[in-house]
Amino acid sequence: MILIYSHDSCLQHDPGPKHPENPGRLHSIIDALQAPALRPQLRWLQAPRGSEAQVLLAHTQEHLDVVLDLDSNVLDGSRRALDPDTILSDSTLDAALRAVGAACEGVNDLVSGLATEVFCLTRPPGHHATPTRAMGFCVFNPVAIAAFQAQRKGVQRVAVVDFDVHHGNGTQDCLSGKNGLLYVSTHQSPHYPGTGLAHENRPGNIFNLPLPAGTTDASYRARFTAEVLPVLDAFRPQLLLVSAGFDAHRDDPLGGLCLDESTYAWLGATLRAIAQQHCQGRLLSVLEGGYNLSALGPSVAAYLSGQAPAR
Ligand SMILES: [Zn+2]
Repeated sequence: MILIYSHDSCLQHDPGPKHPENPGRLHSIIDALQAPALRPQLRWLQAPRGSEAQVLLAHTQEHLDVVLDLDSNVLDGSRRALDPDTILSDSTLDAALRAVGAACEGVNDLVSGLATEVFCLTRPPGHHATPTRAMGFCVFNPVAIAAFQAQRKGVQRVAVVDFDVHHGNGTQDCLSGKNGLLYVSTHQSPHYPGTGLAHENRPGNIFNLPLPAGTTDASYRARFTAEVLPVLDAFRPQLLLVSAGFDAHRDDPLGGLCLDESTYAWLGATLRAIAQQHCQGRLLSVLEGGYNLSALGPSVAAYLSGQAPAR
């Protein structure tokens, strides 16, 4: 059974008619998750609204105040920009807080033993949001907040795996230098936001695997197996968090990698196997990118359907 946390506000957050991070993304995923083979495995729950204290686990009071102040200036139907890409509409603050609440509640569910797998079907995404600022469609950083929430709950070693086509600079900033936290990212490089180079790696804390444009399914899986899995095995996480972005799909308009649904099924299976080996199966994934509406739903369904192979 996989718990799916979502909320209507995450459907209503609307950065504008031509924005790639639009409500159609969630509709595409919700449709795909109705597949008969998958539907009985999913339990849908309302995401609770995250608290300001939860936001402050990863962000400064100044960043929170900027968002709250801008939100207070969003009148009905209007929008305000946090940065050129990151737009607040009248549902955005609630949606961003629901994403935070989903991630924290999901961690609580895993730590208490209520569930072994959680998927946060929320937007806006989060992995570009740094401790001090919003950027790249991201207001707050739910996966980083979830890592700190897990530590508060007594989990000593938490790994975040990020397979979005973009480097999660915000998550790296939040987790860098923190004991007991590992951030692992595969991403296209060079590409937005320009970070995630191998020289930024820190043993046992940060591992970036930059990949050239055009990377294929076979090459991706081979490098993930040879380079990422040993880092995870050495760290022995007690909880596995995933920044699940699907914009490394070959048809995605914002990325240049060439993966298809089969690699998302493979990633689901592989990360589930890591969780079973090290984390008592405890796995929480947070939706990040994915901007081709035909590819996104099937990619998420493939990820959630992937069965754990023997290791
Ligand atoms: Zn992305």
